[in-house]
Amino acid sequence: MKNRLIATILTTVMVLTLAGCTGSGDTPDAQDAEATDEVTETQTEPTQEQGGTDEAAKALLEKLRGVNSEESDEADAESDDDQYILSKSQNSQRFYTIDTSGNMTGSYDRNEIKAMVGSRGKDYVRLYDEQNGWYTDDLIAYDGRFLYFKAYEMYGSDTDYCYVVYAVDTQDYEPYLLWKSEPGDGGYIDGAEYYDGALHISVNYSRGADGHLTKRMENCYTFDEAGQKFTESSAGLEAVFDEAVAMDYNVQDRVGYFTDSRQCFAHVLDEVGWVLVMKDGEYGKVTADGQFTSIKPLWEDGYPYVATYDDNYIYFTCWNSDSNAHILYYYDVGRERARALTLPDEEVTVLGYLDGAVYYSIQTTETYGYPHNTIYSYRGGEARSEKMYEADSVPGAHFGPGIEGFRIIGDRIYYIAFDDGSLEWVSTDARTPDEAYKSTGCTEEEINAFKYGDVESSSEESKCPYCDTTLFRYYAENFVLDDEYSPNAAKITDFLRHRRDEFFGEMENSDYAPVDDSDCEYHLEYPVQNCITDDLNVGNVEMLADGKYLVVSMSGYWYGGGAHGYPNREQYLFDTAGGERITIGDLYKGTEEEYKRIVAEATKEDFLSYTYENSPYFSNDSNEVYNQAYDEASFDNPNIEFDEEGVTVYYPPYDMGSYAAGYIEVKIPYDRLNIDL
Ligand SMILES: [Zn+2]
Repeated sequence: MKNRLIATILTTVMVLTLAGCTGSGDTPDAQDAEATDEVTETQTEPTQEQGGTDEAAKALLEKLRGVNSEESDEADAESDDDQYILSKSQNSQRFYTIDTSGNMTGSYDRNEIKAMVGSRGKDYVRLYDEQNGWYTDDLIAYDGRFLYFKAYEMYGSDTDYCYVVYAVDTQDYEPYLLWKSEPGDGGYIDGAEYYDGALHISVNYSRGADGHLTKRMENCYTFDEAGQKFTESSAGLEAVFDEAVAMDYNVQDRVGYFTDSRQCFAHVLDEVGWVLVMKDGEYGKVTADGQFTSIKPLWEDGYPYVATYDDNYIYFTCWNSDSNAHILYYYDVGRERARALTLPDEEVTVLGYLDGAVYYSIQTTETYGYPHNTIYSYRGGEARSEKMYEADSVPGAHFGPGIEGFRIIGDRIYYIAFDDGSLEWVSTDARTPDEAYKSTGCTEEEINAFKYGDVESSSEESKCPYCDTTLFRYYAENFVLDDEYSPNAAKITDFLRHRRDEFFGEMENSDYAPVDDSDCEYHLEYPVQNCITDDLNVGNVEMLADGKYLVVSMSGYWYGGGAHGYPNREQYLFDTAGGERITIGDLYKGTEEEYKRIVAEATKEDFLSYTYENSPYFSNDSNEVYNQAYDEASFDNPNIEFDEEGVTVYYPPYDMGSYAAGYIEVKIPYDRLNIDL
């Protein structure tokens, strides 16, 4: 069984980005000051009169801006019934649904949805990949009845990947296939959103053999109660897409409901009145009736990544290779010029957009391993960004402080916060700075480490003795067991503290430490690439056999430049009565020779459970796998984990399989080992 290494890597990369090796940014005050002085000739009243806005968009803007009228009251009343998803990512195992007022309306688990769907839709409903152990299919939306998913997968017995979009009825768990790309047609989804009473899917067809755009479309799907099926219709954006394709311009969507999703174009047109188009550094606007107007380039230096835009301002980021950070800019559509909103050494993440304001975060890391995020909003035309709130990292809790799960529903920001040992969904007013957040009653994760004790942490840096460049940044945590769970809790805690000390000892003994100044020119020119980071985090903490044993899992990630780093995992089992560390050799009553044979046989069985195509193993010879597993198995091999049912013997990346294959895991139940916990 493969573990979710890819997911782990992604998470770790995110954590690294958050806790990364980049220099710490300036203080929030400096940020504010800078943002202020950028705009000297303060724009008076940013209005929607500034060209390109049609009547429908104006009406919607007025509605969004809370202009009181009978019509907008009615629309607001309708939108109170709207339903939204609270999920950490688009492929989280568990998620909640809430209404516009923030009341929880449902709680879901993918495994349960999959069980309820059963064999219906077996050609396309995946949800959970049992063999690989990861959750597939991106959750798009919930409309109060249907959950919508999209996936890139092999449909049925096809051997080519395609995109599929499907709905699951939460009343009877009947799945409905809404759309699928044809293998080889180059179609891919770039926006999928439940908008204005229908699921919208916008599809781009990749450039043809001649390098020109071929086709683009946006379809809407609504459920036909009488026919018990979904009906497909065009979103009516042909004029926009035809013009863009004819001119060979790409159309640009806006950041969506999830920070990594994009809005549909019907939504963009309704709110903006036109769609931004671009081609090789040239930009323009195309209105709903297909009228193109050229605008000056957003930015000459670097490649602008458009995050979002409205009828007055375009917000985009550019990577600054000197400071290794993304800088946020806004482009004034009327004046056709851009200004920076953030400083060169501040790493910015664009989080969302509401009613003329872009929301973004700046991360500062004064001490490696302790990232701090400050969330700002900036309304185009105003002189300065407004600080909304800030959040600190918490040792033992793995999340992006203040930004994890960020989304805007109605006029409130929702995100995941650490609260009393758990990660909880909270919300705060999107227009009022520094308002204390409110709980939603939706728990993302109860963290066991805080149930059984606490987590300590520390961080160390080491500089080149010749040029003072920081070459190592280490961060480590250790679990501290509460006295009530063991008469020898202190002994267990001491063991884990000692492990942390050893970890920092590894930094001091590193083979990478410079012996002279021969690399200093390189150190000074590429300080980020030269910095090795290593992390050791407390993972799951559990009691086994009714509190007789305690297991403490740890995970780590080493990064030393290059495409990827190396993950690390370790687990410690303790006898809570005596406080002693217990190994497989203490539990297994037979000989080590017998143990080696059991592990080798179980590994061979795991190997044989895969087809040739999906095997994570390098080898395609079961005897070879058996022999390697036999050679590696021993009472001293640390690559073993314990849980309530049995042990998991694992093979790290590159041991039995490729890096991408991740950890190959082999589960062996206790009864096969004659172990009675
Ligand atoms: Zn140096």
